[in-house]
Amino acid sequence: MSKKIKDTLGGNMEVKFSDLGRVNAEFQSDFLKQVTEVLDSGSFINGEKVDIFEKQFANYCEVDFCVGVGNGLDALRLTLEAWQLLGIVDRGDEVIVPANTFIASVLAITAANLKPVLVDIDPNTMLMNLEDVEAKISSKTSVIMPVHLYGRAQDLGSLKRLQNSYNFKILEDAAQAHGAKIDGMKVGSLGDAAGFSFYPGKNLGALGDGGAVVTNDKDLAEIVRKLANYGSDKKYEHALKGCNSRLDELQAGFLSCKLPKLDAYNSLRVKIAEKYYREIRNPNIRLLTKPFDGTHVFHLFVVEVINRSAFQSFMTKNGIETLIHYPKCIHEQICYKELKNIDTELAERSAKAIVSLPIHPFMSDSEIEAVVIACNKYAP
Ligand SMILES: *Cc1c(COP(=O)(O)O)cnc(C)c1O
Repeated sequence: MSKKIKDTLGGNMEVKFSDLGRVNAEFQSDFLKQVTEVLDSGSFINGEKVDIFEKQFANYCEVDFCVGVGNGLDALRLTLEAWQLLGIVDRGDEVIVPANTFIASVLAITAANLKPVLVDIDPNTMLMNLEDVEAKISSKTSVIMPVHLYGRAQDLGSLKRLQNSYNFKILEDAAQAHGAKIDGMKVGSLGDAAGFSFYPGKNLGALGDGGAVVTNDKDLAEIVRKLANYGSDKKYEHALKGCNSRLDELQAGFLSCKLPKLDAYNSLRVKIAEKYYREIRNPNIRLLTKPFDGTHVFHLFVVEVINRSAFQSFMTKNGIETLIHYPKCIHEQICYKELKNIDTELAERSAKAIVSLPIHPFMSDSEIEAVVIACNKYAP
């Protein structure tokens, strides 16, 4: 969307879905300082900036260990592989995961030679339905992967109680929910381990790819670190058939600049969401259940609408960019066609109705207002 379009307020408005330019401009001089420091140090990989960020992020998530890796997909995959090396998970075991997640959650499972079992969602939160999870636990289930989708933390209390009767690990996919909390406990500390992504558009984003595994399990952290570094913790000694998936010094430095502002930026997202909840009044737009108790950090603001294609073109005419997260469930993707014919009707139905409204910490009041006005004027 490059050209300016006349909006409902009568002015020229262009509300972009996200604006990384504005976010990163805030940090420009800090970033340049990081670049200079890395150039001066001559250390680009496995240096002290990664160590420092890992400590800061572990501390932020209130866990003992953080291992920086190349991206969020690898954070999940390497955790699943490490559990196999530790003898906790066997090749071919089942991993329960919601059907409406981003493809990476499931790619991590199949890349680790495990079998995804898709479950349906609670249409009020879009998070996985824990009753459906319990119904799908089998003797082969060794991992359950809740996804804190859109930035909304899933309460894992009942899943943790099930761990007393069944033998499975909980791996949080926390890629969209840095800083969200359940009863004061941070996402990333709720399960046995969690994978984070620092893809630029995430609530905590680098200037390139990055990810992290956080956990209180020392053995797990050590194996993930080795796997991500060619299976080695000593130069030219390779105990494991690992890979190359490391967070680099520059990205770690950039992330250390941004981490202290994460909570403030999450609060700005929540403020925008509060206004949307207060002021969007249109029977053709369904908002999900309200979550203003710290559980939601609004990586995305997702609503369901009647006649989505009409809604999106109406918003475009009003200068407002919208996106869909995600237009297809996992089993509706060609690469996972073998998973079709499962019973996840609510996830399928919602994939056809959902749309994401702009929400980012640097939206101006008039941009937020323009979204509200356009939403309230929409008639399918
Ligand atoms: C972004 C994302 C990932 C993957 O992270 P990358 O850093 O892009 O590999 C995994 N799961 C979810 C839910 C995500 O949104």
